[in-house]
Amino acid sequence: MPSDSANDPPLAPGLYLVATPIGNLEDITLRALRILRSADRIACEDTRQTQKLLNHFGIATPTVSYHLHNEGLRAEELLAQLKEGARIAVVSDAGTPGIADPGHEIAQAAIAAGITVFPIPGASAVINALIASGLPTETFTFHGFLPAKEGQRRTSLEALPRDTAVHIFYEAPHRILGTLADLESVFGATQHIVIARELTKLHEEFLRGTVADLHSQLSARASVRGEIVLLFSPAPQQDSTPKRSIAAEVAALVQTEGLSEKDALKRVARDRGIGKSVAYRELQREQSRR
Ligand code: SAM
Repeated sequence: MPSDSANDPPLAPGLYLVATPIGNLEDITLRALRILRSADRIACEDTRQTQKLLNHFGIATPTVSYHLHNEGLRAEELLAQLKEGARIAVVSDAGTPGIADPGHEIAQAAIAAGITVFPIPGASAVINALIASGLPTETFTFHGFLPAKEGQRRTSLEALPRDTAVHIFYEAPHRILGTLADLESVFGATQHIVIARELTKLHEEFLRGTVADLHSQLSARASVRGEIVLLFSPAPQQDSTPKRSIAAEVAALVQTEGLSEKDALKRVARDRGIGKSVAYRELQREQSRR
């Protein structure tokens, strides 16, 4: 096991959860570098990825893989070393370990075994997207990734409370257009959203506007690339909640304007400022109450 660098104070035994940059290598802290340099081992989500970072900063600490698929087994091994007084650093590929990344299991196990856990702060996409989003920062909920399947994704969106909190999601570039279509359908075309893309990188970009505008902006691009954080605060349901039921409004439009039921429902949803799927579910609820 390597000794601490001559100028570094000795590191206390324990588990160090070390944040690393989310794009810009300047975002590593001096403390993170010292911990990575002085630790006995660095447990990495992907050793090859972390090795690039370590090479860049001239750090020779041995690495060991610690990822989703070997988390349980490797945690036991690391725990045995921690119990003998080792200093182990945990890093993910980028950002803060444990935030939509491995880290919490080993932290939990270490705490249960009476081992000290040290957070070593640094970059995380969720916080940096929020602070520059222009959305209120007092109350927010971070959900990690939305479900990949369309139906489940829509159900998750429909279940969000319509309070003043900002909801924050990580999203993959190949799914963003589908997610925006679902957002439009659940919250209506005028829902304000923010997309933070490629934070801290050369092509960092914040898109702020209605879901319909951003959907058409991104659709017009040849491809959407890069890492994405999606933020929004669901618009409250309209105050002037119509007295009539959705079924009654649909029936009236069918009768007076000769619309199909589908088009009538679309119109009612638009007039109420809600998404089509929300209107449809409400219609189903009304019908089941009859
Ligand atoms: N632990 C990381 C953190 O603290 O942010 C997150 C890891 S998670 C596996 C990866 C996701 O985080 C990406 O798919 C993207 O949604 C978001 N992300 C990471 N880096 C980003 C960046 N530079 N810009 C925008 N989003 C980013």
